[in-house]
Amino acid sequence: MATKNIELIAAPKPPHFVGDGFRVHNFIPSGYHLDMKRMDPFLMLDYNSKFHFSGTDTPRGVGVHPHRGFETVTIAYKGRVEHGDSAGGGGIIGEGDVQWMTAASGVLHKEFHETEWAKEGGIFQMVQLWVNLPAKDKMSAPKYQAIKNSEMKLVDLGENGFIEVIAGEYNSQKGPASTFSPVNLMNAKLKEHGKANFSFPPHFNTAALVIEGNILVNGKEKVPTDHFVLFENQGEDFTIEASENAIVLIISGEPLNEPIFPHGPFVMNSREEIIQAFDDFNTGKFGYLED
Ligand code: MN
Repeated sequence: MATKNIELIAAPKPPHFVGDGFRVHNFIPSGYHLDMKRMDPFLMLDYNSKFHFSGTDTPRGVGVHPHRGFETVTIAYKGRVEHGDSAGGGGIIGEGDVQWMTAASGVLHKEFHETEWAKEGGIFQMVQLWVNLPAKDKMSAPKYQAIKNSEMKLVDLGENGFIEVIAGEYNSQKGPASTFSPVNLMNAKLKEHGKANFSFPPHFNTAALVIEGNILVNGKEKVPTDHFVLFENQGEDFTIEASENAIVLIISGEPLNEPIFPHGPFVMNSREEIIQAFDDFNTGKFGYLED
């Protein structure tokens, strides 16, 4: 099988705040190589690199806001987040956990640091990924998957470390998340000098984000912490080797190849559907959620 080479290594851009609780570097859509089409079906990736929040009795976060047409996936590496939505979904995710919210036809939700964690404060590190829905599923019912770290599929790589499969599969071992299109999402947790091989179809859009440590890709290219790697749509196989203990988020999905029409918190296939989303939001069709 042919090697899948790196197309781009992106350094983190200056961070911005989402609400007052998420200090993020945006990698998708970053404007240059990585528009929403390039990483289809992944519409957006915001990365809160390690950041210390001081203790507070008023948890920081993002207040009630709507979404329609896609899924928001939050992966917690450090800190705890509490989430609630107008479809009754919600809960607390802690270190290593994932919340997979399918907004689909529409929800109101809010995302805050969990109350007890916020009181103490501490180092916070998190990824939020937006996964597009196929046109036929955009108006389906909202759904919520709380995926505890203990529910993830662990693939033991011996002295190299292990792979924690969230969605899709690694070496035919399947992760717990249900998805609407083929999506692979996993953490490679590698020991010093540990190696892992990955293989995805050439047409899948594939990337990696270095959460901890430094890595060597395909035995030649160094990628430091907090950097994002975009792979070419050629070849299938790549290897990652940890220069020191490393955590690498691997993202690969089959493009939907449908029109992408984003506007703020809505991502639909046409302008008409966006106008409809605003109408529905303004007339209360997204339900109700207390501030
Ligand atoms: Mn949101």
